[in-house]
Amino acid sequence: MAEVVLKNLKKIYPNTEKKKKKGEPEKKNDLQITDEGVVAVQDFNLHIADKEFIVLVGPSGCGKSTTLRMIAGLEDISGGELYIDGKLMNDVEPKDRDIAMVFQSYALYPHMTVYGNMAFSLKLKKVPKDEIDRRVRQAAEILDITQYLDRKPKALSGGQRQRVAIGRAIVRDPAVFLMDEPLSNLDAKLRNQMRAELIKLRERIDTTFIYVTHDQTEAMTLGDRIVIMKDGFIQQIGTPQEVFDHPANLFVAGFIGTPQMNLFDAHLARKDGKYTVTVGSVTVELSEEKQQRLAAKDVAEQDVVLGVRPDHIMLCADGVKGKVDVSEMMGSSVHLHVTAEGKDVIVIVPTNGAAAHFPAGSEVNMIFGGNVAHVF
Ligand code: ADP
Repeated sequence: MAEVVLKNLKKIYPNTEKKKKKGEPEKKNDLQITDEGVVAVQDFNLHIADKEFIVLVGPSGCGKSTTLRMIAGLEDISGGELYIDGKLMNDVEPKDRDIAMVFQSYALYPHMTVYGNMAFSLKLKKVPKDEIDRRVRQAAEILDITQYLDRKPKALSGGQRQRVAIGRAIVRDPAVFLMDEPLSNLDAKLRNQMRAELIKLRERIDTTFIYVTHDQTEAMTLGDRIVIMKDGFIQQIGTPQEVFDHPANLFVAGFIGTPQMNLFDAHLARKDGKYTVTVGSVTVELSEEKQQRLAAKDVAEQDVVLGVRPDHIMLCADGVKGKVDVSEMMGSSVHLHVTAEGKDVIVIVPTNGAAAHFPAGSEVNMIFGGNVAHVF
């Protein structure tokens, strides 16, 4: 149980050889470089409520792990303050922060059994034997690994090892649970399964969670709130629904949602106090809520980027003209990849609808409502 507050948190790495994670492609980040070094995280302000599940998400190299490692005490804090339950933690040893961390690599001790791995930290803390046994067995039961307690990690599958890594954190009953890409080493099917298990686990463990992932689906399904990062800066903080419905900028619009939001070059006009946007031959009036937002800022007529989600585009007899490049059958829907107005556009149509029958090479006309249009 704990509230975690991050105030203006900052991390500068000395400007030496940049870290490259194993198997990871070269990072193409736009991090700020100062005389002191590479600014991996800056202006990080976040108030995490007790028992909240927060997900830090963003592309590789945006500073997620660095932030988590600063909270864990595995990385020095270059600036700002970290509070856990009201106590300033900047210079507190990791072992005294009452946190437990689960890593992508599992980091299990290979020579110890599952039981030994889970009991290890409690033994170090000199917790009585019967209490250790109770906690290990309880965690094993929650994670459904009781039958493997006598095995060594090498005799377990990837998913089972990950459960042991999580179990090792659970037994410590920490105030804050930190997880760094815990599902990234699992195959797609197991990842989906473990994601569902984490949702259940979270209901059984009343703890604050801070979870790092580059996978927006994981972020959307797990987080009470998600923090979207890019190039060391927070881009937006909100509930999954908020960031999906109201992306703060083009980066968030493109990052959240699969397939990603379509972006058109458009023109914003204001006539008789009403805002309209035009893409090609189509002009739509924006929703009342967007009218008010734009009017409040007295936004002038200008060229804008217009975002429309793939399932919000409809095909009609008349509209923005496009040509189907690829038609992908997805089962219950068809994804049409269309070139229109010089952009790659994705349109999702139901399999059983007439619109589904547009093979590659077809001409389509696209329309969308002003209520689903995002102006950037
Ligand atoms: P993410 O978790 O979002 O992939 P990281 O927090 O690991 O990103 O890294 C953020 C940036 O800081 C990256 O550009 C990375 O190369 C750099 N970085 C991370 N660790 C170190 C380090 N120990 N020394 C120097 N640069 C580092």
